[in-house]
Amino acid sequence: MPELPEVEITARRIGEAVSGSRIESALTPGINALKTYDPPLSAVEGATITGVRRRGKLFRIELDNDLTLLVHLMSAGRLQLFDTRASLRDKTARLLVRLDDGRELRLREFGTKQRAWVKLLRSGEVESEETLAALGPEAWPDPPDFAELLADSRRPLYAELRDQHVIAGIGRSWLDEILHAAEISPFKRGVDLDPDEFERLRDATVQQLGRALAHYEEAIKLPIPDKLPMPLFVHRRNGEPCPRCGDRLEAVFYEDYVMCYCPTCQTDGKLLKDRRLSRLLK
Ligand SMILES: [Zn+2]
Repeated sequence: MPELPEVEITARRIGEAVSGSRIESALTPGINALKTYDPPLSAVEGATITGVRRRGKLFRIELDNDLTLLVHLMSAGRLQLFDTRASLRDKTARLLVRLDDGRELRLREFGTKQRAWVKLLRSGEVESEETLAALGPEAWPDPPDFAELLADSRRPLYAELRDQHVIAGIGRSWLDEILHAAEISPFKRGVDLDPDEFERLRDATVQQLGRALAHYEEAIKLPIPDKLPMPLFVHRRNGEPCPRCGDRLEAVFYEDYVMCYCPTCQTDGKLLKDRRLSRLLK
């Protein structure tokens, strides 16, 4: 599930590689991932890519003809660059941008759901596009003061900090790492935090996302792999020893994901309820 560090490294690597390249053609095979119709996708033909940038978990592929391709991977999409063109049998392909040097920029989506999307926007319309316009401030490199951001928040941090309207870029994986690094319970709410906790949480956010990116800067080369080697110490490590205190990492299971934490470091030793079990027992 790509979050800020994964999207950022992809934008950097692909941006370096395709800036200055000319687009020969673009198509959206299978179910149409393109959510806009004016201008038509054919308007990118002949344009030169000027850069690939990230905002939140989205990509902005900017062209020299005043158009921008906005790409949202959702939960299972990948943006990848290949030296050759996709086989028509590649059922994961959602958008193919063919460059005139033979390479192909490809939006692929794994799994059964087809939710990744693309919009072709005029440059003047990009900032007001509804998903971008609704994004909160960037979680990295310089997020705002968390005391201001979360002062009135009554939702548990594990939900609040994944809300892209509140702060942009954090998802399930990195939130487990951030809360563990800050030594704060995922079930605490903004209104429960003291000034020191707000500061720890902000510091941990910058530090953990920065740590991921530093790792990817070393590890990731083109072509971008289907699965990035995420340097996670807590997320999905339930049952393993806590990297800080050595006690057992625990998990709370939800319908489609798992949240991991260290009871000793984060919850004063308390075991949080397993939501899956408590629902069954209701
Ligand atoms: Zn611990």
